[in-house]
Amino acid sequence: MFADTGRLHIAVQKSGRLAQYSRDLLRDAGLRIQNGKNELTARVDNFPIDLMFVRDDDIPTFVADAVCEFGIVGRNVLEEFGAGEAEPRFDVAAPLGFGRCALKVAVPESFDYRGPESLAGERIATSYPGLLRRFLADHGVEASVVKMSGAVELAPRLGIARFVCDLVSTGATLEANGLVPVETVLESEAVLVRTRRPLSPAKAELADNLFRRIEGVLATQESKYIMLNAPEEALGEIADILPGAEAPTVIPLAGRPGHYAVHAVCQESVFWETLQKLKAAGASAILVMPIEKMML
Ligand code: ATP
Ligand code: ZN
Repeated sequence: MFADTGRLHIAVQKSGRLAQYSRDLLRDAGLRIQNGKNELTARVDNFPIDLMFVRDDDIPTFVADAVCEFGIVGRNVLEEFGAGEAEPRFDVAAPLGFGRCALKVAVPESFDYRGPESLAGERIATSYPGLLRRFLADHGVEASVVKMSGAVELAPRLGIARFVCDLVSTGATLEANGLVPVETVLESEAVLVRTRRPLSPAKAELADNLFRRIEGVLATQESKYIMLNAPEEALGEIADILPGAEAPTVIPLAGRPGHYAVHAVCQESVFWETLQKLKAAGASAILVMPIEKMML
């Protein structure tokens, strides 16, 4: 579809649940995306990168064929595509922490479910036949899989299938249709995928640069910068409490012999309990600050 112009292409969902998060992530990574929401592509001003806005179902194909070197897509869509492939043609470069959901088997509330064997010989409607078949095979169950492209939750009421296998986040849609989830086929979130096709050296360098920036954004989302004061004898215990911090910086406090300022980047969530523990260990004047940018 694209001649090799030396520009890198990233496939993102055009509209839908992942669309805005995907753009925001790329913006946070420093890409200045030209507007043009209804176009198929958008140029990035400050890098030789183009975005392609497509249906999420097409993203695995585009990345596998290296029409786009990168893509942002749900693990569910990716694994369904992969279920039909002998060898993966892309790598999952990073889980992105948004678009969380799970592919679940659900049964009518009145059904007395006793484990996967209850599905034997039944009809199950789903948009994910590959993943459902894999799940059934893993449990040694034979059932017939009815492929639907949408409104799967209506299948039991329409008499198409007794059970469904559908994406669930809050469970409200299932509940509204009198269905209860009984098995988890796959836990999913959006992921960054990267083609396995070899890239020209210039493109490979750009791809690595982009990937490092995205990693940086992901790292800062959870990370916090902590500053506190502590007496010397408390430093060891405090270092053990700081979540995900490597080698904190310890600086002597002017005019207070035996007292130090401790600065650390914590790469895990910092909770109130953590602060209470730090205080109990002897820390005072504890400050927790967000991190704006980070490159690892
Ligand atoms: P497209 O027009 O791009 O084909 P779509 O209708 O297939 O869009 P969306 O409903 O926008 O897709 O969902 C995109 C992705 O969002 C899903 O593949 C899944 O990874 C994730 N997702 C998160 N929560 C849910 C949910 N409750 N239901 C469906 N998908 C969800
Ligand atoms: Zn889709």
